[in-house]
Amino acid sequence: MSNLNCPHCHSALSTTQYEGVGVDWCRSCQGVWLDTGELAKVVETREATISASIVEETRALARTGVPLEDSNRRLQCPQCRRVLSAINYDYSSGIIVDRCPDDHGTWLDGGELAKVQAYHEQWDEETKRPGASAGTRKTSGERPALGAISRMMRVLRGH
Ligand SMILES: [Zn+2]
Ligand SMILES: [Zn+2]
Repeated sequence: MSNLNCPHCHSALSTTQYEGVGVDWCRSCQGVWLDTGELAKVVETREATISASIVEETRALARTGVPLEDSNRRLQCPQCRRVLSAINYDYSSGIIVDRCPDDHGTWLDGGELAKVQAYHEQWDEETKRPGASAGTRKTSGERPALGAISRMMRVLRGH
């Protein structure tokens, strides 16, 4: 059992295992408190199967900045009681997480942890995709270039 309270609804947090990482979880609002470093561990482990619908939902969230309603929540760190800073996860994911200014950890509302994982899943796919299509992109990139050169040659010959 954890002796921390939920920054959102103030219920006692329970310690649970999430992908092999011990996290503090709120039964009432389903939010999760991750100590510094735990979030990275969960992201690295990536055992959970993220449904395609969550990946789609997460993709639709992508934007920069923090909406005012999120920065005005003023949740408190369960460890030091300092006000958590609302931050856009990875700058432009659109997933707003709340981080302790003293680096005790990060609070994720119910469902946000899955979105963070979906974000990485999607990111992985996108880094794989250009790698796989690099060949096709190169040839399709060369074709217009060659076309442009031959057009230019024709123009030069014409003059
Ligand atoms: Zn709660
Ligand atoms: Zn703190």
